[in-house]
Amino acid sequence: MSKVLVIGAGGVGSVCVHKMAMNTGVFSHITLASRTKSKCDAIAASVLAKTGVAIDTAALDADDVAATTALIAATGAKLVVNLALPYQDLNIMEACLSAGVSYLDTANYEPRDQAKFEYSWQWAYQERFEKAGLMALLGCGFDPGVTSVFTTYTKKHLLDRIDTLDILDCNGGDHGHPFATNFNPEINIREVTAPSRHWENGQWVEGPPLAHKQVFDFDQVGPRDMYLMYHEELESLARFYPDIKRIRFWMTFGASYLKHLEVLTNVGMTRIDPVMFEGREIIPLQFLKALLPEPASLGPVTRGKTNIGTIATGLKDGVQKTVYINNVCDHEAAYAETGSQAVSYTTGVPAMIGAALMLTGQWSGAGVFNMEQLDPDPFMDMLNRQGLPWRVRDLPAPLAF
Ligand code: NDP
Repeated sequence: MSKVLVIGAGGVGSVCVHKMAMNTGVFSHITLASRTKSKCDAIAASVLAKTGVAIDTAALDADDVAATTALIAATGAKLVVNLALPYQDLNIMEACLSAGVSYLDTANYEPRDQAKFEYSWQWAYQERFEKAGLMALLGCGFDPGVTSVFTTYTKKHLLDRIDTLDILDCNGGDHGHPFATNFNPEINIREVTAPSRHWENGQWVEGPPLAHKQVFDFDQVGPRDMYLMYHEELESLARFYPDIKRIRFWMTFGASYLKHLEVLTNVGMTRIDPVMFEGREIIPLQFLKALLPEPASLGPVTRGKTNIGTIATGLKDGVQKTVYINNVCDHEAAYAETGSQAVSYTTGVPAMIGAALMLTGQWSGAGVFNMEQLDPDPFMDMLNRQGLPWRVRDLPAPLAF
């Protein structure tokens, strides 16, 4: 019997529990807990309507380690899937250690008062998880997550040596709003306003945010402007594949999104330090989040597709080759299946797959793991069977930029 506790009732949590309920052979009992219980109950009602599976719900402030530990014990979960916000990662890892269960998340820890995400805080738990004989799997969404699995798969099956790696993340979806974010606005805006950074010849190269643009013609989406950015998986890829000469991450943004972001940044609305307003402290970015559409509300109105993949150039049997692995996900199809658009879908499905591989013992180990350390084959197989099919093709030449 594999009981699981999912924390976080946002778009990603919703997709994940819908997909778990479609795989009851693995997930025998599902509890969804979050700060706002009514959101859990609404998701539970949708899961019941779509799959016929009843899940339990609970109210939880996951920053309260004792309360989280008690809830884990009460549910009998063997694994906690953390789909709350990056701020909760360390507290939920603490609760897992107290309760003696394994842990999975999709985003690395970020302190609230600093727009800085890195793995150091979570890698520091290595010894404690190892000693406890428990597994913590970090970054099991799409990016980070599937992009690292694509890379590991490329190294295992397609290239003997990878020289350059580019991750291309395109959201070709249109939700009709002049400005909205497809996942948590606070996390999203902190990420895209950070300086760009990529790995080149054994060191990090920094640049201003969103300053380096290229156009790429994405399959089933068309040509889009994409921008060089820093992204979480660059850190683990550089750690586990230090010999790759250059690793870069690109994300597409539309002109309207960038225009709004520039103005909001210029007027100070993306600041994360407290400012006094009418006698009380407010954090401008949190106030902005309250004004923007909830990512979950974009589900019914988003049309178009996402296209995310990796392009690797290197050697196979002594010959230079460039291989592209990617997935295309349709916003409307994702919504019809799970009630959420493709950005939540492409994150929630990999989280479910990682959880399934851990609970069935196909992925196992004691300590803190990144996706690069695990066998890509069972994960790639489940992607094809669980709604995120991928395609491999050889490109005629390396990227020209
Ligand atoms: P949402 O903001 O939609 O949902 C987050 C949920 O967590 C909300 O239900 C929120 O509750 C809940 N929550 C926040 N704080 C707490 C707390 N202290 N205790 C309990 N619950 C809490 O985010 P998303 O669903 O879009 O994203 C979820 C996670 O997935 C994020 O960490 C995000 O960074 C990550 N992500 C990863 C991606 C990847 O590819 N790897 C891509 C996209 C997202 P409430 O509603 O009450 O505020």
